[in-house]
Amino acid sequence: MAKLKLAVYWTAACGGCDMAMLDMGERVLELDRVADIVLWPLVADFKYSDVRQMEDNAIDICLLHGAVRNEENRQMAELLRQKSRVLVALGSCACFGGIPGLANFFDRQEIFTWVYLESQSTDNAGGVCPQTSARVPEGELTLPEFFDTVLTLDQVVDVDYYIPGCPPTTEMLWQAIQTLTGDQLPPKGTVFAGSKTLCDRCTRQKEGKSITGFRRLAAVDIDLQRCFLEQGIVCCGPATRSGCGGRCLRANMPCRGCFGPTEHVRDQGARLVGAIAAMIASDHREEIEKISHLLPVPDDPAATFYRFSLPHSLLKRKRKENAS
Ligand code: SF4
Ligand code: SF4
Ligand code: SF4
Repeated sequence: MAKLKLAVYWTAACGGCDMAMLDMGERVLELDRVADIVLWPLVADFKYSDVRQMEDNAIDICLLHGAVRNEENRQMAELLRQKSRVLVALGSCACFGGIPGLANFFDRQEIFTWVYLESQSTDNAGGVCPQTSARVPEGELTLPEFFDTVLTLDQVVDVDYYIPGCPPTTEMLWQAIQTLTGDQLPPKGTVFAGSKTLCDRCTRQKEGKSITGFRRLAAVDIDLQRCFLEQGIVCCGPATRSGCGGRCLRANMPCRGCFGPTEHVRDQGARLVGAIAAMIASDHREEIEKISHLLPVPDDPAATFYRFSLPHSLLKRKRKENAS
């Protein structure tokens, strides 16, 4: 039987999803038995021209991790869509925008000003910022355009399947790969993770208690068996898809939401704010406000609630003052 053609590629990403692939260990060799790797920059030196020369749909399965941050990312997403029968958004950056998507709280000008002109570590006497084209004695140099707004993969091209997580667990990844290389593909749009929220799957003791105040994890002795939220420690479990096996909870860390929302939740941050608000132990506005102000996220509440999903959310990005 002919082997499948598999591609793995990254756009705006940290590389952690590639590491999760490598963490599959000897199962990568099992993968090699059923699929030829035709593109994977982490493990071999492939060129863009190699991909351009492929026929359309020549790649059977393409796992693409990373958000779409610049013109190069967009072109590669479009090219790989054209060359792939099945395109999978791998990891939270591709699925929801992920950590790179937090840049949507700023625009390009603000980012360039801070990174290239104002940050304490900047040494840029000429005040040079990235340009898409620059003339030098040797000729013209070009750079891909840096977008104002970080996009999810499916905001740019059609996506067939999703494997969430920052990064996805190796077990989930392996299960997804086995399914995708098997005889029958699942319905388009399938998310390779749980369908319920993490709270639904969590085994920590829940006493149905309300929140009387918020605490920082590092500043209190926590009950290792009890629900974090009931102890006043922000945990994103109520608005986050299950499937990771409670990876952080087992290490006594609250969930930060990396598996994104379930299919019944349109906006992960809004659902989380609603879930937490519903647990506050008061019906009186002043008291609720007093308790809310104890939330240990005073400088960055938006990033706490939308840490992995801002580009995918209803907000999508910070409102631009001059937007039409
Ligand atoms: S999902 Fe997480 S691990 Fe994967 S590329 Fe994005 S930031 Fe890195
Ligand atoms: S809020 Fe966190 S600790 Fe509490 S039940 Fe949900 S996932 Fe578990
Ligand atoms: S517990 Fe939450 S943050 Fe941790 S891996 Fe699971 S979904 Fe991601």
